Amino acid sequence: MEKIYIDHNSTTPVDPRVIEAMLPYMSETWGNASSLHLFGRAARLGLEDSRDKIASYLNCRPDEVYFTSGGTESDNLAIKGVAFALREKGRHVITSSIEHQAVLESCEFLQREGFEVTYLPVDEYGSVRPDDLKSAIRSDTVLVSVMYVNNEVGTIQQIDELASICEKRGVVFHTDAVQAVGRIPVDLSNSRVSLLSASAHKIYGPKGVGLMFIRTGTPILPWQTGGHHESGLRSGTVNVPGAVGYAKAMEIAISDMDEIQSRVGVLAESFRMRIQESVPDTKFNGHQTQRVKSTVNFCFKGAEGEALILNLDMKGIAASSGSACTSGSTEPSHVLLAMGVPPEIAQSSVRFSFGRSNTTDHVDYAVLAVREVVERLRSMSPFYAKT
Ligand SMILES: *Cc1c(COP(=O)(O)O)cnc(C)c1O
Repeated sequence: MEKIYIDHNSTTPVDPRVIEAMLPYMSETWGNASSLHLFGRAARLGLEDSRDKIASYLNCRPDEVYFTSGGTESDNLAIKGVAFALREKGRHVITSSIEHQAVLESCEFLQREGFEVTYLPVDEYGSVRPDDLKSAIRSDTVLVSVMYVNNEVGTIQQIDELASICEKRGVVFHTDAVQAVGRIPVDLSNSRVSLLSASAHKIYGPKGVGLMFIRTGTPILPWQTGGHHESGLRSGTVNVPGAVGYAKAMEIAISDMDEIQSRVGVLAESFRMRIQESVPDTKFNGHQTQRVKSTVNFCFKGAEGEALILNLDMKGIAASSGSACTSGSTEPSHVLLAMGVPPEIAQSSVRFSFGRSNTTDHVDYAVLAVREVVERLRSMSPFYAKT
């Protein structure tokens, strides 16, 4: 049976060039980067070289790049760390209704700690309207967090505009850019973003390593305390092989971005068009243009999302319903609900996220498989009446 992976927004395989770059930092150069001796210094050289490279790719200063264990930790640190640093100034935080759970649950934590949180709505394409942000900011607003690219539908937000609004009002702006860095150009010298989270394993790097960009002067308290690593902001012996691998993964993603994104985008677009032509009663979710094209999200009215995923899996196709982090739950996607999709339609959603390894043969096979699975599930459904 064919095995076709169309779930690259959940994770990606590690690029062999990344593994090759990491290996020496697990064998010869295994020191603790905070040790003063020879072993430590050698590891530190690799760590700081990776930080320098990442800073040059993102166009920021190396001392503004902090390594973490991934996107989830960076989101937690940004939201809790800034809110607590500014809690005497104000206790109002703004985010959007389509964020990743790492952001949403950090905000819920703040609510339990006495903060008030405003959840900005999105339009039917999943875009936050800058005017909604303008009118939501109050004198006690201390932090705004809006994701760069949505993981379920791929919609790209107007991050630079949102960040500028916040800067004018003196409010710290954070963005979860896990789905953006390495997929679309992100230039921090041209933007007023105060904090940005990213993760290696979404761009062919290793799991368990991520970063946080913190613009110089941004108020933030450490969330994890201990040995004062990463300038005291993130204690814990730094994952040097992970940092080295992340720098390599980002280098590859950025140098090949145009070529890969256009090739993968063409595959994904052809899949999208052929599904729309060959499967009736489908609803495409997401923005037509302001979208990372490799993400294709559909609702197949009358077929249940989880059942679709399991049946596609039996045909060797790996895709997701909603976000992988919330799968197992039968709740319809909060992202689609926020975009105004009725709950019974949102239940039938599948996210296909294409990547480097996909081919036109994969698209041919996947179109046939999706058509067959959707038809079969619909024929068994007491609720589906062909329109
Ligand atoms: C995957 C993802 C995360 C979590 O990153 P991890 O490194 O897996 O913790 C956060 N936000 C978004 C948008 C993601 O896609």
